[in-house]
Amino acid sequence: MKVERILPFAKSLLTNAVSPGDIVVDATLGNGHDTVFLANLVGEQGKVYGFDVQQEAIEGTNKRLTEQNLRDRVTTFHEGHERIAAKIPVEDHGKITGAIFNLGYLPGGDKAIVTHSETTIAAIEQLLSIMAREGIIVLVIYHGHEQGAVERDDLLDYCQRLNQKAAHVLQYQFINQQNNPPFIIAIEKR
Ligand code: SAM
Repeated sequence: MKVERILPFAKSLLTNAVSPGDIVVDATLGNGHDTVFLANLVGEQGKVYGFDVQQEAIEGTNKRLTEQNLRDRVTTFHEGHERIAAKIPVEDHGKITGAIFNLGYLPGGDKAIVTHSETTIAAIEQLLSIMAREGIIVLVIYHGHEQGAVERDDLLDYCQRLNQKAAHVLQYQFINQQNNPPFIIAIEKR
């Protein structure tokens, strides 16, 4: 298939925006797969800040990072991403070039603990104010579960209203597939 699938496309967007030495955010650590990807992208001189509300996700991610010798460049917070602006040190504000939100529930974990549009939108707002210009926020939206459909509608509504002078907003989605596969909204700060 020549057209990039959803998760590879999310990675391509971040790869284009982020350079070695940069500062980036994993807003939903989960099992830490995206964190490892980001830690490799920023390299030894870069920094990753990660957030999750579940202790299980923090521990799993920290273990994965240690195993891959990437722990030093990642700070993990057992906090909701709605606390991004408060937790990321002020000296790093204005320097963040990439962020990813892999929304929904922790695969293999408690499906009752999901992301919610109010807190996701609060985090996006904060990121837009503390990111570098041309920094990119990638949202991977899983809308096959009940709360996911609500979050999808709220996020589409919010993102479509973002002032085009403040951000470019892209939707990337296969529109003829069954079972509500995930899709991407990418926001580039202007
Ligand atoms: N990126 C992960 C990976 O590579 O494995 C998958 C993330 S999983 C789909 C979504 C995660 O979001 C869950 O681990 C859940 O605990 C977390 N979450 C839910 N609400 C959150 C919030 N307000 N702030 C940060 N994380 C949250």
